[in-house]
Amino acid sequence: MRTQVAIIGAGPAGLTLSHLLHLHGVESVVLESRSRTEVETTVRAGILEQGTLELMRRTGVAERMEREADIDEGIEISVQGERTRIALTELTGHTVAVYPQHEYLTDLVARRLADGGAVLFDTTVDAVEGIESAASTTSTEGPVVVDYTDGAGCHGQLRADYVVAADGSGSPHRASVTASGASGVSGTAGTSGSGRHRHEYPYAWFGVLVNAPKTQKELIYATHPEGFALISTRSETVQRYYLQCDPSDTVADWSDARIWEALHTRADSPDLQVSEGEIFDKAVLRFRSAVTEPMQRGRLLLAGDAAHTVPPTGAKGMNLAIADVAVLAPALVRALRGDPGLLADYSDIVLPRVWRAQHFSWWMSSMLHQTPDATTFESRRRLAELSCVLSSEAGRRYLAEQYVGRDLPEFEV
Ligand SMILES: Cc1cc2nc3c(=O)[nH]c(=O)nc-3n(C[C@H](O)[C@H](O)[C@H](O)COP(=O)(O)OP(=O)(O)OC[C@H]3O[C@@H](n4cnc5c(N)ncnc54)[C@H](O)[C@@H]3O)c2cc1C
Repeated sequence: MRTQVAIIGAGPAGLTLSHLLHLHGVESVVLESRSRTEVETTVRAGILEQGTLELMRRTGVAERMEREADIDEGIEISVQGERTRIALTELTGHTVAVYPQHEYLTDLVARRLADGGAVLFDTTVDAVEGIESAASTTSTEGPVVVDYTDGAGCHGQLRADYVVAADGSGSPHRASVTASGASGVSGTAGTSGSGRHRHEYPYAWFGVLVNAPKTQKELIYATHPEGFALISTRSETVQRYYLQCDPSDTVADWSDARIWEALHTRADSPDLQVSEGEIFDKAVLRFRSAVTEPMQRGRLLLAGDAAHTVPPTGAKGMNLAIADVAVLAPALVRALRGDPGLLADYSDIVLPRVWRAQHFSWWMSSMLHQTPDATTFESRRRLAELSCVLSSEAGRRYLAEQYVGRDLPEFEV
């Protein structure tokens, strides 16, 4: 097989990239190790920033989202049951949408297939070679070789001009970018320069999916001496709740009774009770921040979680993945037409946004979570910081601006 762009992973980054390339007449093949059903049913992120919403509208994949998503004009922050509304729309002019990631992926898969696109499910990429090849993009062979195994266990090769690793946080391909000898790369994690920059958190989230009516329309981010809770939603009848937990906790540590007690303690207010129902999914979500710099080497480009991971508190992971490919798509289109300038600048263009999202996710996490070994000074200081933000219009506006996100950059092709 020969294509122009081989894309590893049918997550938000990979499928959005394939769709954007198609709109500019560039061919791609998406290779995805999971089945189509798994991709379309695994519940992950759920908040779409205004830039993501605008991109969906502009590129013709917003129809079902417009019909089914909850458009939210605010969120609430609850401090020991006392709730303050952050009026997103009043403060920024923008909204966010609650539209689950798997619904977004379902729409993108349908659109790619309707447009004649190649999305190979149950197909695992085993190796990538030729990323530093100087061969011409007009070569019939294709300079990059992607080895894969399909669902029947058969091995195959895909040849391409460029390969995009959009294969999530476990991507083995970022090692090729940060390996010593890569141009402009000085090594792994550090405080400056290139490599992999990481931060660990002393807490995690215990996430549950519940068959229940909504607690209320808008999300509630609740902080309490016993820990954080997020009252979120996936639909009218399915709710997504999270509780701060210890990173070493397992599903077995959290009985239904313990979950409900913790949710009510942390998130109830005098006039509002977390709505209960049957818990049908439990999982521990690890908290990590990581950024790989740069996000490219030769013909290999990283996008989304493959390059950077954020803790979920700021709801940025999926949006950042889409923001990356909003730059990468026009850059690849231009490079394939013989103008590689924008592609050479890809990392420099997207990384400032990635670092701002890292900061916001870290800031929200630090301000809303009770660190297990915090001194009384640290706990009181944290609550004072929260009070400064919530009691000032400038503070609420700053939080709102970061939450709804910035416009996505647009480049002529
Ligand atoms: C369990 C979970 C819950 C989450 N919850 C939230 C949340 O509540 N809020 C939030 O903001 N964010 C959340 N996130 C983060 C958010 O979902 C990610 O930031 C987003 O999915 C990133 O998109 P991506 O396309 O970069 O990567 P992914 O969505 O991870 O997609 C990568 C794809 O590559 C495929 N793949 C991997 N290796 C190979 C290979 N060798 N060959 C072929 N295919 C391969 C994978 O199967 C996967 O489909 C969550 C993530 C997880 C894992």
